[in-house]
This record gives sequence, structure tokens and C-alpha cells, in this order.
Amino acid sequence: LPVISLQHISKYYQMAGEHFYALKDVSLTINKNEYVAIIGPSGSGKSTLMNIIGCLDTPNEGQYQLANQNVANLSEAELATMRNQQVGFIFQSFNLLPRATALANVMQPLVYRLISNSDRQNMAKEALRRVGLADKAQHLPNQLSGGQRQRVAIARALVTRPGILLGDEPTGNLDSKTTREIMALFDELHQEGHTVILVTHEQEIADHCHRVIRLVDGQLAQDSLTTAGEKQH
Ligand code: ADP
Ligand code: ADP
Repeated sequence: LPVISLQHISKYYQMAGEHFYALKDVSLTINKNEYVAIIGPSGSGKSTLMNIIGCLDTPNEGQYQLANQNVANLSEAELATMRNQQVGFIFQSFNLLPRATALANVMQPLVYRLISNSDRQNMAKEALRRVGLADKAQHLPNQLSGGQRQRVAIARALVTRPGILLGDEPTGNLDSKTTREIMALFDELHQEGHTVILVTHEQEIADHCHRVIRLVDGQLAQDSLTTAGEKQH
């Protein structure tokens, strides 16, 4: 069942009157519950692709269906709702609010939901419990380790109960032991039914996923199952 379907997507920037393509004619489909790595050299379009998949950015050309909706036809408000309901983002540098507690950070995506503050708190506490940080709810980010900060960020991504998790180098700032712990958490979230898509430059992480998509100069250069993925399929 496709949840993400890109057809002939291009994204370009105007530079000195010329079109510079960050993505050029990319077509791909990602099914529900896939576990995908996006790899490629710096500047190859990985972040641009993630931003388009996550509705943070729109393509100049091509069609995009997310959860059976045509993204190009959505208004800004509908796009924001789509993003909030379908997608959870996890970043390399965590992007937590420094003066807000772990709990307040995790509650943040729920601010626009028409639910009570106590419901928001309960959902955020449940998400913190899910990532093993129930006892750190009142800590500030700078009172937490890098791995714990990334767990808070994952709880924040989970709190809206999205089907799709998008990680842009989510272990890029973590040591190898913490990287393994965070990948074990992504494994669990995948096993629980999430569609997981991770940008990485680490071969080990790419091999760990079930499918690898490689971009070179904004174009699809490889799209194949890993050994782990072949065992699954
Ligand atoms: P990656 O994530 O693989 O490093 P990006 O998607 O960030 O690649 O960028 C792809 C290309 O598009 C790069 O050459 C980058 O410099 C360019 N690019 C990205 N964002 C912009 C922008 N806002 N304006 C102009 N060029 C951009
Ligand atoms: P990342 O670390 O995710 O690759 P970058 O450091 O490449 O991100 O880019 C940071 C921001 O600058 C992004 O919003 C990106 O779109 C923008 N950007 C990247 N390259 C360019 C560029 N050549 N010109 C203008 N903006 C750019």
C-alpha cells in the first residue's frame, strides 16, 4: 500500500538567472511500513527530498501523493494539517526548545490541537514513556545527554501519532553506542508499523534499513533492497 508516491518530481533554485536543480525527475513509491535509507554525497538533494516528502517544501514540477492525497492541490493550511497528522520529523541537531522542559518540548506539536492541556500532557507523557524517558519529563535539554535529547525529539515526533517518521541524519551527532541505541528504537517503531525513512551518510545505518535510495546530483542513482530487506521480503 503506497503512502508516498512521487512522480517526476523536480525542485530547482534560480541562480544568476539559471535553474539549478536540487532534484531532477525523481519518481519513487514508498509503501506503508517500509524501512528506507536515503544516501548520497553532500549536496545531492537528500534534505530537499525529505523536505518535500514531509511537506515542508513543495516541488516545482511533478506530482506527489501522500496518504492518497494530492499534495499540490492542498492549501497552506491543509498542508500544515497533513504535516502535523502524517509525519514526524527527527533532526541531526535535535532542534529542541532550550528553555522548555522535555515534557513541554514533546507537547509542542499538540498546541494547535483542540484538546485540553491535560490531554496534551498525558499524550506527551505517554510518548516520553515510549522512548524510556518518563523520569526526565521536567528536565531541560541541557540537563540531558545527546542520546536522551534525541529520544525527546523522537517522543515529540511520535506525540501526534504519525504513520511516517522522517529522520534527517538522526544519529549524526551521536557516538556509536548511542547510535546503536537510537537505531534499536527506530527498529521497534518500524516493527510497530511506522514507515521509517532516514537520511544517513553512514553505510552501517543504510545496511541496517531494508531499502536504500541513493541520490547523485539530484537524481535517483540506486533504489534497492539491502540484505536485511531481502530477508524480510
Ligand atoms: P543534501 O541534503 O544531499 O546535502 P540538499 O538537498 O541540502 O542536499 O541540497 C541539494 C542542492 O540544492 C545543493 O547543491 C544545495 O546547495 C542546493 N540548495 C538547497 N537548498 C537551497 C536553497 N534554498 N537555495 C539554493 N540552493 C539550495
Ligand atoms: P543540511 O545540513 O541539512 O544539509 P544545509 O546546511 O545544506 O542543510 O542547508 C541549510 C539551509 O540552507 C537549508 O534550509 C537549505 O535549504 C539552505 N541552503 C542550502 N544550500 C543553499 C544554497 N546553495 N543557497 C541557499 N540556501 C541554501
